Amino acid sequence: MKVAVLSDVHANLHALEAVLAEVDADGFDAIWCLGDLVGYGPRPNECAALLEERASVCLAGNHDLVVLGKIPIATFVGEAAAAAAWTRRVLDDDPRSFLASLEPQGTAPAAELFHGSPRDAVWDYVLSEEAALAAFALTSAPLVLVGHSHVALELSNGRQLRGGQAPAGTRVELGGVRRLLNPGSVGQPRDGDARAAWLEIDNASGWATFRRTEYPVELTQAEMREAGLPEALAARLAHGV
Ligand code: ZN
Repeated sequence: MKVAVLSDVHANLHALEAVLAEVDADGFDAIWCLGDLVGYGPRPNECAALLEERASVCLAGNHDLVVLGKIPIATFVGEAAAAAAWTRRVLDDDPRSFLASLEPQGTAPAAELFHGSPRDAVWDYVLSEEAALAAFALTSAPLVLVGHSHVALELSNGRQLRGGQAPAGTRVELGGVRRLLNPGSVGQPRDGDARAAWLEIDNASGWATFRRTEYPVELTQAEMREAGLPEALAARLAHGV
């Protein structure tokens, strides 16, 4: 089975469409989504509808839960709060119902999935050694998949913890040691590469590959400015920060 793992789409439809075009061209069997479908970006309804149609497993992220009102908007400050308030106003009933049906953690064949981490599926970031060790300790599946940080990451837990950031083209062998992988963010990457980040898991070959896909950033930026979303959120997309 060949799986495309997508996370943190954040209502960036042009990024999502570019990734799905590659997914379709390369013959994937399934799409798993790790949450934060909306928030920050200008096309929440379309992104939620596309992921409802295409993803066989889909989690809720902290932004989705804030937009739904399951988490108070006061937990966000500044631009994230402004974007969440805007998203609440424009979100249609059908995407709202779909988002409301999602949980921040889930399972898939041979994998455990979390938006944040196993110790806090909504808020915790796996960005430190301590968080990574806790994530391995609290799970048992060969593969642990997390999102939320918007930074592509590959860690393994054999005799010791190994790994780090996973730039474009990074490949890791599956089987043997347990792996914790973060695909990075489709719609708002923060690791210095502005291209949409996602992860290919190919169980037939036994390899996972960190992929990046170019998309027309300027179209998403124009939509954000048109919608009146905070300028800083549009500007950062050009730099992948
Ligand atoms: Zn996010």
